[in-house]
Amino acid sequence: MARKLIVGNWKMNGSLAMNAELLNGIRTGLAGIDCDLAICVPFPYLAQSHEALEGTGIALGAQDVSAHAVGAYTGQVSTRMLLDFDCKYVIVGHSERREYCNESDELVANKVQRALAGGLTPIVCVGESLREKEDGKTAEVVGRQIGAVLSVLEEREVCDIVVAYEPVWAIGTGKTPTPTMVEDVHALLREWMVGKNPDAGECVRILYGGSMKPSNAGDFLQRPDIDGGLIGGASLKAEDFLAIARQA
Ligand code: PGA
Repeated sequence: MARKLIVGNWKMNGSLAMNAELLNGIRTGLAGIDCDLAICVPFPYLAQSHEALEGTGIALGAQDVSAHAVGAYTGQVSTRMLLDFDCKYVIVGHSERREYCNESDELVANKVQRALAGGLTPIVCVGESLREKEDGKTAEVVGRQIGAVLSVLEEREVCDIVVAYEPVWAIGTGKTPTPTMVEDVHALLREWMVGKNPDAGECVRILYGGSMKPSNAGDFLQRPDIDGGLIGGASLKAEDFLAIARQA
């Protein structure tokens, strides 16, 4: 069983002052945690977070990356820039970017390719909307999203990604699927990935994300097929983030 991975996604939250307190709270509260930890922060706070996390073993990540290597792409951030701050991870295809920035499956796939080529581990987000769930289209939607990514990867590259299953209707809503529902989707995702690389069953970590908090984290994280969590709201409080990680 893969070591569990707990990733904080700060989204568009924070300030230098707030982050200093949060990072300090995390840094000083790591006792009793036995999983991999990462924090994905807004671009302007990479330098601050890099410095604060030095020597803690907590990995740093970004929340997006350009599909291009370098050049005239105003406002975009490259893999090379993220590496300057020792980023290990980058979230790609979060539903908020798919929805508010019109990111297509194809663009997400290109970003995953670019992240891998640049030496970063993409955390590829997939998940269905409430409407799609009610229409019984979860497998179809998630299959299309992961399929677009798999279609551009080499067989060996499948082992270099992390997948996060995040039902859109569970993000920031306080609503969650049952752990069994999550396991069913994870099993499908694993099956598709194994179709591309037979080792994917073991080598790829599949996280669950969507309203995970200290009171429900154990229900998800104790399942062998749920390899960790992508935590939004609850990652903004050190004690909540750490309480989740302690259950992994
Ligand atoms: P949430 O967000 O934990 O606030 O629901 C999860 C995510 O969007 O990554």
